[in-house]
Amino acid sequence: MTTAFDQLADRILSGGAATAEDAVAVLRTPDTELMNVVAAAGRLRREHFGNTVKVNYLVNLKSGLCPENCNYCSQALGSQAPVLKYSWLSKDETLEQAGAGLRGGATRVCMVSSGRGPSDRDIDKVVEMTSALKDAHEGVEVCACLGLLKGGQAERLKAAGVDAYNHNINTAESHHDNIVQTHTYEDRVDTIGKAKDAGLSPCSGLIAGLGETDEQLVEALFALKELDADSIPVNFLMPFDGTPYENTWELSPARCVKILAMARFVCPDKEIRIAGGREMHLRSLQATALHVANSIFLGDYLTSEGQDALADLEMLRDNGFIILGMDETAFGELIEEHRAKAAARVAGGCGSSCGDGCGGAAGACGGHDEQERPVIRRRGAGTDVAANA
Ligand code: SF4
Repeated sequence: MTTAFDQLADRILSGGAATAEDAVAVLRTPDTELMNVVAAAGRLRREHFGNTVKVNYLVNLKSGLCPENCNYCSQALGSQAPVLKYSWLSKDETLEQAGAGLRGGATRVCMVSSGRGPSDRDIDKVVEMTSALKDAHEGVEVCACLGLLKGGQAERLKAAGVDAYNHNINTAESHHDNIVQTHTYEDRVDTIGKAKDAGLSPCSGLIAGLGETDEQLVEALFALKELDADSIPVNFLMPFDGTPYENTWELSPARCVKILAMARFVCPDKEIRIAGGREMHLRSLQATALHVANSIFLGDYLTSEGQDALADLEMLRDNGFIILGMDETAFGELIEEHRAKAAARVAGGCGSSCGDGCGGAAGACGGHDEQERPVIRRRGAGTDVAANA
């Protein structure tokens, strides 16, 4: 049986493009037809990315203490969320944290700092970190995410070897002022333009679940298409206690898959990354979502804990995916290394920040209600506890 979504995929594969009406129709598909959407969007994914998954690793260089008021953010001005708060990591700690992610299977390190935007001294730090990282790890891809850029800063990052710059538009222009008032949508677009002009690969995405309409989600995706973002992180709101979005639950696993599929139809050849909120919102559909998306973060997020890195890698392998840039043999060996590390943790007490000695990922022991609340990150960058990588 050929579905309307197959016909849409045929049209796109023949050089056509999804319309806004197509995109809204994807979002409004009944859950009973979800697999028709996945099958059709999966054809586009396989056409452009085969069975590869790009694995990225976040290093939060500076956490909390932000003067901006993004309502969704646990690090924002006024947020009471008890997240880790620290100023800039040293170069050595950055190298250590990034190295953990790279040894864990990531090929791209995303260096992020809270704040409105970097000072020129902050750029000095990131330039130094990038040089050290590139020297220590041949072939590593570096993405910087430092906020709004001023003139000349993107050029300095590019000259230092930074490959990409992330600055999310987060939501539709028509919804932007409802979620933040200390900067404008135009400010965000301006920074993406500066990054592009300097030759950095533009990475920009969105957060779903902020009270936006279907049409606004589609508006945001078409804006990202227009901006020609090379990678598009799709976040699902993690409603941290102590933020204005506390207790806001608008998403279901099927809804999240449809949002990712919509992104695939609109931007068929772009990296669609399942970003924050993956475990909490997709739940048992995480692997299904990877049949339309082609990129994830390994391990933890900026201020919250993700599922165990081993669970991420096993999910990829169980579903027939391989890590982009790694052959199957190396991938198998990587999983065995992770299993050995996990076994050693069990033998010595699990080391999970839950402290219950369960040996598993935070959330796997029943000590957290991971699916209902973000689990605040208490390991990796800014702590003395080993990273989840
Ligand atoms: S999203 Fe960035 S700019 Fe906004 S409050 Fe959070 S750290 Fe600050």
